[in-house]
Amino acid sequence: MNIKIEHLRKNFSDFTAVNDVSFTVSESEFVTLLGPSGSGKSTVLRLIAGLESPDSGIIEVNGEDVTRIPVQERKVGFVFQHYALFRHMSILDNIAFGLKVRGVKRSVREAKAKELLHLVGLSGLDRRMPTQLSGGQRQRVALARALAPEPGLLLLDEPFGALDARLRKELRSWLKKLHERIKLTTLLVTHDQEEALELSDKVLVMNQGRIEQEAAPQAIFDKPATEFVAAFVGETNRVEAIVQDGEVYWGPLRFGSYYVPDGSKVTVHFRPNDVYVASQPGEAHTAGVIRSILFLGATESLEIELDKGHTITAHVPTGVAAQSGFHLGKEVYVSVTRSHIFFSLGSA
Ligand code: ATP
Repeated sequence: MNIKIEHLRKNFSDFTAVNDVSFTVSESEFVTLLGPSGSGKSTVLRLIAGLESPDSGIIEVNGEDVTRIPVQERKVGFVFQHYALFRHMSILDNIAFGLKVRGVKRSVREAKAKELLHLVGLSGLDRRMPTQLSGGQRQRVALARALAPEPGLLLLDEPFGALDARLRKELRSWLKKLHERIKLTTLLVTHDQEEALELSDKVLVMNQGRIEQEAAPQAIFDKPATEFVAAFVGETNRVEAIVQDGEVYWGPLRFGSYYVPDGSKVTVHFRPNDVYVASQPGEAHTAGVIRSILFLGATESLEIELDKGHTITAHVPTGVAAQSGFHLGKEVYVSVTRSHIFFSLGSA
């Protein structure tokens, strides 16, 4: 199944939750709507599912306009964060429920439910009740239940949102493998950037009801189209710099030359792991002093004061930090290997 969304708009009273949203999802693609709480992601998903109707815009599925078609006829499967299983039904009956309401006979629906239980890695648990499963297992059952009627499209709204960080990670790689196997067109909603970057063929970053950027995960991270995307996806140093003699400066750091009038104010974003830190001057020639060190496991986060009023954060691999003898108060030399400049603040 492929989807084409054109100029979708949804208002709740005088509040615009979805504002002129257009995008496509190709057959077998895994696409993610990523954005902060309240940015309109779930509303877009609910509009595609047919649980809400848009004020304007078109939703096409396989080239056919389904904008006014009721939810039952849209052939979509959903999994929501709190899409509770039916407590009084066994796992098998939960998965087979959608087939039962469609009048599929018992032997067929039970065989199908067992096959799906196997697919989600829970064979043998068919007679258990939902309360006898862990949170992660329950979400996998919810997914099996959504897949049972063989939808052409899978809609996932923060499906792992209620689970702890480790379990989320586990289920994420499990979902990725599952998608590689079944290749079902999937649209995921999440505010978790790692989840979006790891799982998706394409990420749509949403902010205040609009799509800020639509791109492959790597491009979202490496080439943020807007300042919002630069700040929302990945950690960043954000500084407000000034153009002098055609060059962008922030304290002792220089970020290249631009054809903009002197005195223009710009915003520069650079990621902590795009700061190269050395013990001796060389390629890195801006001097600074380490003011704090945070151990993050595989990396260390260093706060480096370049001069009064100009402090940056750098992430260096823990091994490199140890080898270079980085300690509080040590003088180091830095260079910023990659930065993103946004000309949005007007003139000084
Ligand atoms: P979250 O991650 O918190 O679920 P979201 O990006 O999915 O956020 P939506 O749930 O789509 O955001 O909500 C977008 C905005 O629309 C929010 O400000 C929300 O309060 C508002 N909204 C959503 N549904 C309704 C509704 N039925 N009535 C009124 N306002 C609503």
